[in-house]
Amino acid sequence: MTLWLLGDQLNPDIAHLADADRVLLVEAHAFADRHPYHPAKLTLLFSAMRHVRDELRDDGHEVHYVESETFGEGLDEHFEEYPEDELTLMRSASRGSAERFEELVTERDGSLDVVDNDLWHCSSDEFDAWADERSGRSRAGAEEGGEGDAEKPRAYQHENFYRHRRRETGVLMDGDDPEGGEWNYDDENQEFPPEDWEPPEVPRFDPDEATREVHEWVTERFDTWGNPDLDAVVWPVTRDEALAALDDFVENRLGEFGPYQDAMLDDEWALCHSLLSTSLNLGLLRAAEVVDRAVGAYEAGDAPLNSVEGFVRQLVGWREFVRHVYRREPQAFEGDLLDRDRDLPAAYYDGDTEMRCLRKAVENVWERGYAHHIERLMVLSNFATVYGADPHELDHWFHFGFVDAFSWVTTPNVVGMGTWATDVLSSKPYVSSANYVNRMSDHCANCRYDPDETTGEDACPFNALYWSFLRENEETLRGTGRMGLVYHHVDNKDDDEWDAIGERVEHLYERFGDDRDFDSPADV
Ligand code: FAD
Repeated sequence: MTLWLLGDQLNPDIAHLADADRVLLVEAHAFADRHPYHPAKLTLLFSAMRHVRDELRDDGHEVHYVESETFGEGLDEHFEEYPEDELTLMRSASRGSAERFEELVTERDGSLDVVDNDLWHCSSDEFDAWADERSGRSRAGAEEGGEGDAEKPRAYQHENFYRHRRRETGVLMDGDDPEGGEWNYDDENQEFPPEDWEPPEVPRFDPDEATREVHEWVTERFDTWGNPDLDAVVWPVTRDEALAALDDFVENRLGEFGPYQDAMLDDEWALCHSLLSTSLNLGLLRAAEVVDRAVGAYEAGDAPLNSVEGFVRQLVGWREFVRHVYRREPQAFEGDLLDRDRDLPAAYYDGDTEMRCLRKAVENVWERGYAHHIERLMVLSNFATVYGADPHELDHWFHFGFVDAFSWVTTPNVVGMGTWATDVLSSKPYVSSANYVNRMSDHCANCRYDPDETTGEDACPFNALYWSFLRENEETLRGTGRMGLVYHHVDNKDDDEWDAIGERVEHLYERFGDDRDFDSPADV
């Protein structure tokens, strides 16, 4: 049997290896011609593939490593050498891929056995069992616990899933109760670091010869968007490096992860975030081992519960939740509940804006293909949402700009959580005026715009756009029943205020929309 490892299963300690006669890895390149991916992302992926190949060979495995344009061509080459081979593949996170791969293999007279993938914390069967138990409750009804409209996609409730998984797996449980008595400690997790706070140092993984070679090839071979320097490749490319990154996080940053997870600092890109998404998404780390390490730190008294629970929720909860909801309801992520079609502002491509928060977030993405969760949600997505940009263009932008982007996670986060083009993941959009950014960051102090003004040349663009967004989408949003307080403020504005807001918004549309003078982001 040949174990076919995909580019997000790059772990040399996979149990199925014990039964494999050989390993197949197909390094397909054509996908990277479709979008101008960040050079760090392509380097990371191809370098991690080549490193796992070498590690497996060093461990005595036979590895058939094929470089090709497409998976189909890669398989042609494999079956030429191993006719009628029997392949085993761990279930992929990409939706529909098992069927696609099966077709590709059987067309070439091979066979494909799809087996469980223990890199994940929650299997498809486990998620489906949870979701099906609640079947019959669709969007409209789920909120109130009723039957809902069977024609509509289901509404899935993260909090419900998360608690179910904690109970099922015993993670941070004290018998039938959550550890410490609460399911979450959010009220302790919205702090802003004091002025003299020194962020822990970010671990560096200096590129070795193999990574340097890949990087040189990537920057010559592909049209890319993002920092072309080798310095941008700050991400682990091997399992050993990923384990070192995990150690570093647990020892140096997990303790303060909780309190500062929502904060944004002008001159600090990582704060106490784990920076583990690339290692998890490439399969260098198993979700369960990351969760176990964090819980172990709590049990040993080395990290407080509010931080550990906050971190565990992201992995046991959100990461698995978005993947499975997207797998089950792909069609929900194709349209847009709010019918937006404005071009994404040029600032997302060239960073040229006087809005300090937006400029910093775009610069971070350009620099190393990363912005942390709150920058993604409350700056990059929030601004695109209130501006009325096409959520699918934003999704596209995230896909090529971020080192950790894969469809199963990027699309549900951008199209679902970030822009609320569908309500299957959350019942109301995450939108805010300048107020949020001002409270949770120090950007506004360094910005030329005033977060307290809504209209006038110096007013922060977030404000007028926010009110205009609420008014424009009133029918849909007021109807969610979750935005009563916000619409109370909308109702209190008089005609003069709306006229001034309308004028400001028209001016902002012109300002942000008029300078897309490039054919491709790669030209920026
Ligand atoms: P931490 O803040 O340290 O969080 C720990 C881990 O929790 C992350 O590594 C990640 O594996 C997981 N996690 C946290 N939140 C989520 C979430 N909402 N969905 C899935 N996993 C989560 N994550 C990606 O891996 N790839 C993406 O392309 C991606 N795009 C996003 C786009 C938007 C608009 C938003 C709002 C979120 C997106 N996320 C994405 C989720 C999250 O922002 C990143 O996983 C996180 O910022 C990665 O940095 P970190 O490893 O330092 O995470």
